[in-house]
Amino acid sequence: MKYKRILLKLSGESLMGERQYGIDNNRVLQYAHDIKTVFDAGIEIAVVVGGGNIFRGLSAEKSGMERAQADYMGMLATVINCMALQSALEGIGVETRLQSAIKMEQICEPYIRRRAMTHLETGRIVIFGAGTGNPYFTTDTAASLRAIEIKADVVLKGTRVDGIYTADPEKDPTATRYDEISFAEVYAKGLNVMDMTAITLCQENKLPIIVFDMNKAGNFERIANGEAIGTLVR
Ligand code: UDP
Repeated sequence: MKYKRILLKLSGESLMGERQYGIDNNRVLQYAHDIKTVFDAGIEIAVVVGGGNIFRGLSAEKSGMERAQADYMGMLATVINCMALQSALEGIGVETRLQSAIKMEQICEPYIRRRAMTHLETGRIVIFGAGTGNPYFTTDTAASLRAIEIKADVVLKGTRVDGIYTADPEKDPTATRYDEISFAEVYAKGLNVMDMTAITLCQENKLPIIVFDMNKAGNFERIANGEAIGTLVR
């Protein structure tokens, strides 16, 4: 096993599957199985889930809502997604704990770093909800921050594309995929990997990121085994 502890970031949109909005339970279940396979192999896994399939602060601001208020709504949306993933994982026999950056004591634990680490050591998957708990941030930043806090070896960003491209592959047929790229190149080329706050946190703390296609069955396991698929940023 290449990694001892990993942080998996799943965007809210990835939970939509083929739907236009909300949660596709089959997709969530597929992710749960993929996560269980890696977990059963002995790797500690923490997951940060986004909320863009339900609510995005920035879009709500464009239609007139106050940004901070909208962002808190977005953070609540992430908790809904986390609960769906938690349910799917527990349904297939994996013990989990959900910790939220915004207190919701009837539903989940508050985020406590040391407790999260104990859960991981005890053989539980930890799901982090409500992003960083602060407006004006994103769940990508939450993923970088939590990964650094819990001393994860890597951030695995599961997306619908198989890595980082020189240009948008859906718009430019000549676009090619990077196997590996440095943080400096990501900045210089303005590549859309994660938002800059998230990237900066990883760079400053020497935490590698791998962007990969989470929708292809077996990919998560291959990545966790150290296979060079996707794009490595370091
Ligand atoms: N959000 C926030 N602070 C955070 C994380 C998320 O305010 O630390 C809000 C923000 O409004 C964002 C929404 O929650 O649009 C959903 O998160 P995100 O867009 O990162 O989800 P994803 O793109 O991964 O689905």
